[in-house]
Amino acid sequence: MRLTFLGTGSAWSLPEIGCDCFICRHMHKNKESRLRTSLYLEAKEKLLIDCGPDIVRQWWTNGLKSLDGVIITHEHGDHYLGLDELVALRRSTVSHAWRPIPTYATAASWDTIELRFGYLLEKTLERRLAVPGEPLVGLRTRVVPFKTYHGPMAKGAVGYVFEDGGKRLVYTSDLLHLEEQQDLLRRPDVLVIQSHWLNEPEFNRPSLLSLQRALPMIRAWEPREKVFLVHISDADQVPGDPANNYLKKIPPAEPLKDPQTGIPYNVPTCQEEWQEVAERAFKDNGITSTVQVAYDGLTVDI
Ligand SMILES: [Zn+2]
Ligand SMILES: [Zn+2]
Repeated sequence: MRLTFLGTGSAWSLPEIGCDCFICRHMHKNKESRLRTSLYLEAKEKLLIDCGPDIVRQWWTNGLKSLDGVIITHEHGDHYLGLDELVALRRSTVSHAWRPIPTYATAASWDTIELRFGYLLEKTLERRLAVPGEPLVGLRTRVVPFKTYHGPMAKGAVGYVFEDGGKRLVYTSDLLHLEEQQDLLRRPDVLVIQSHWLNEPEFNRPSLLSLQRALPMIRAWEPREKVFLVHISDADQVPGDPANNYLKKIPPAEPLKDPQTGIPYNVPTCQEEWQEVAERAFKDNGITSTVQVAYDGLTVDI
């Protein structure tokens, strides 16, 4: 399988508009950006995993040519609002050759997506159902959704396990926790997991994973080769930042610390610092798999 990270940011592209926090300022200085998290997986089919509002830019920047299916994790705007843009693919195909794009989501996610984009189902998208625990029907790549808990506004949220060429990739997407342990997630070759904050905040209102909250899950699932972190935001408070009083900046409950000195890890403000702190957190927590903080445009063979 070949996996391309089309975007690695949170619900709003980074740097965020109207934001003058240390993180966004440092990203401007480094010319870094993170579009909405979305993946492009080349296996037996070419699959777009989530289709947020940045899809046109992501398509051109990554030189995409075609797709055989779309897989949606849940009904939040950053994961499906770009579906309308796929009409362009139909417009540029000769009429008899066009087939609507098979598009998978759970029944609860479709309830929301259809309200907004029901008109796409006639010609552009073919509505297909993702049922947790059952392989998606109609694909030669084995793709199995698993139920996740991502708060009351995302009742249809799922992650997906992809299997092809003897390798297994788990993508959790947005979640707070899993309601039940799932054997399907144990010992994947590659895990792509959310890391919205470094530190678990005092109150986790958007129901998302911090790296701190993700660490015990990663340890329990024992990824064999590599872990990629995605869906990174600017919502951690950085000590000394005058913007720490912004609504999105939530103080940490009990920040991750160096186990020897008891000094909290530095909060990362750019790709290089994220990579440093992620490696340190894995080492200090006894996780032996390699961690890579994903960045937009990163392509890896699995
Ligand atoms: Zn999201
Ligand atoms: Zn979400």
